[in-house]
Amino acid sequence: MEHATNSTEDVQATNATRASPWGGLDQLRAPSGANSLAFATLFAISVAFLFVAYCLSRALFGGFGAGPGALAACVASTAAASIFLWWLVPFADFAEIFWLHLPADRRAREARCPYCGYPHESRTTCTECGESTAPLPAWALSSRPVKRLAWILVPALVIASIAGEAWCRLDESRFVEESAAARARRDPYTRPRSFPASFAKLSVDRDGRFDSAPWTELGRERDWQPADGSRLERGLGWKERADAKANATK
Ligand SMILES: [Zn+2]
Repeated sequence: MEHATNSTEDVQATNATRASPWGGLDQLRAPSGANSLAFATLFAISVAFLFVAYCLSRALFGGFGAGPGALAACVASTAAASIFLWWLVPFADFAEIFWLHLPADRRAREARCPYCGYPHESRTTCTECGESTAPLPAWALSSRPVKRLAWILVPALVIASIAGEAWCRLDESRFVEESAAARARRDPYTRPRSFPASFAKLSVDRDGRFDSAPWTELGRERDWQPADGSRLERGLGWKERADAKANATK
């Protein structure tokens, strides 16, 4: 708690030694490091979220060992996912809200000077610190927290994309090692991608072609054909038409 530089030294000394009736002569200033802590927390949250977003993008449309085009698409979709972080924008002003606007609002309600907390008794100028006793403006969304969050999100996007790509490459290189024995036997081999993209499967076919596809169990087997060729037809009434066709050829 910092004390106001006051003209009357004896008043300050008295207030420092006893609990003052108006909450102390503290200037409205956030403690040093409050902003850094808020920014570091926002940065950590952003990196974690964007890392997951990158890994999910990579599994959805990156394929196995993504090329430059796929990498650009993954970074772009991760950047688009950062829209879900913009609700954090007031937290970029955390120090100002918590140590400036909230105490000032409380003091205004209690008819005290917004700067030092001394009861102003309806005077326009505080007798204690000489500041105006008019209430401070309430916190409102301005360009400052938006700029702050933007400065946090840009490096977070870069770091999360690099980390996400490294994580996916590591997973793929592990898969190449794991599948070595199966490939030597010319057997297909598959396993889920590592967290957080375990909905996607890495696979290698009999010819040693690596692939990565999301939700393979929901996909269609491309080479599958019905034993009865007439069942290739789909749509309402397909069975009747198939039966009629079968009867006609008899
Ligand atoms: Zn004052």
